[in-house]
Amino acid sequence: MMLESLARLRVKIWLLLIGAVAGGAAVLLGGAALFWGVIALALVAALIAQFVTFREPVLRPAAPGPDDPLGLLPPQTRLLLEQLPMPVMLLDGAQRILFANQSMRDVLGPGLDTKRVSAVLRNPEVLLAIAGAGQGEASNVPFTLPVPVERHFQAYAARVSLSPLVTVLLLHDLTMVRRSEQMRTDFIANASHELRTPLAAVTGFIDTLRGHAKDDEVAREQFLGIMATETARMRRLIHDLLSLTRIEMNEHVPPNGRVDLEGVVRQAAAALIPLAAEEGSTVIVEAAAGLPQVVGEHDDLMQLFQNLIHNAIKYGREKGQVTVTLGRQDGQVFAAVKDDGEGIAASAIPRLTERFYRVDVKRSRERGGTGLGLAIVKHIVSRHQGRLSIESKLGEGSVFTVFLPAAPAENQAKPPLPEPVTEML
Ligand code: ADP
Repeated sequence: MMLESLARLRVKIWLLLIGAVAGGAAVLLGGAALFWGVIALALVAALIAQFVTFREPVLRPAAPGPDDPLGLLPPQTRLLLEQLPMPVMLLDGAQRILFANQSMRDVLGPGLDTKRVSAVLRNPEVLLAIAGAGQGEASNVPFTLPVPVERHFQAYAARVSLSPLVTVLLLHDLTMVRRSEQMRTDFIANASHELRTPLAAVTGFIDTLRGHAKDDEVAREQFLGIMATETARMRRLIHDLLSLTRIEMNEHVPPNGRVDLEGVVRQAAAALIPLAAEEGSTVIVEAAAGLPQVVGEHDDLMQLFQNLIHNAIKYGREKGQVTVTLGRQDGQVFAAVKDDGEGIAASAIPRLTERFYRVDVKRSRERGGTGLGLAIVKHIVSRHQGRLSIESKLGEGSVFTVFLPAAPAENQAKPPLPEPVTEML
């Protein structure tokens, strides 16, 4: 706007000056009538200039500054690129980062400016594509960032200016697409495998009841009981598979709510009281005073603690005690679920969060397990940028501890979240 009105003013001044000079000449040469004619023409021209549109070039060189050493980006363009939801980076001829927008910083971390791209993005294919783009060969390559959560991208690199040499690198996030492809394949393979056993049992009992046990009332009652158990298992399995699918889909989207962890743990424990009562077990929740809220999503955290407390009841001692302790450590809030069961062998601990992994398949099935509970816990912890620690000693019981980042005090800027780690002890 500013640039346009300045240009317009300049044109008007020129036109008036020309008018005045021509007017003077006209007075000298031909009298007052010619003078007023020329002045009127100049005024009409100035009026037309008022309606002429003056265009500002989009990538007009700006003044070089500490943020923009080559003076490439006018402030408006910088703001526009900064707010683009797509990760964008500009590089100079030596592959140093001249500019990286917020989305790029979300992917590669803060403090990118002036660093060499190879120091922050160690993928050889992408670096080759950038080098090729510097030579004028635009290209796009797929690549994967393995940490903190695996993400898949298509990287586009192209030269946007020759002097000075500037290359643009643009990333297209394909994580959701890849994940849904992978999940669809896994879902079909795992679900069909796990459903086959109960389905075979139910089909077998139907055949028996139609055949030789047709008139056997005792057998009928017994078989119907087993069929009810098997169908309940299939229902739980489908429920867990769908939960896992939903959580995995959202895993790379950090939650932005604030949750009172003690409230969630107490709610989860209360929901499991009937199950604990069946086993003759008790569940106790002990919380330190004045715990801060955590950054999280209520429903996910409910599911996480229901799974852990349910496992502690299932695999704990008969008539045993489950204790959940909440406290605070290094800017995080933790909740430790402790049971007094048989414990887990050290060699099995690293595999516990794998889908369908069970230490004792028979026992898990008898207790109504699906083998997905801890996989769900792992994904929820990862989405919350938290940490899961598992400690166990054979014969003494197990402790599953979840650490979650404390929410900043209200009206205070968010501190950067720590990197998620799933730690197995
Ligand atoms: P499941 O549905 O079989 O319980 P999980 O994923 O919740 O599946 O747990 C995986 C396996 O880890 C279980 O089958 C069990 O062998 C073991 N496990 C989980 N929690 C405990 C615990 N508190 N004590 C002993 N073993 C446990």
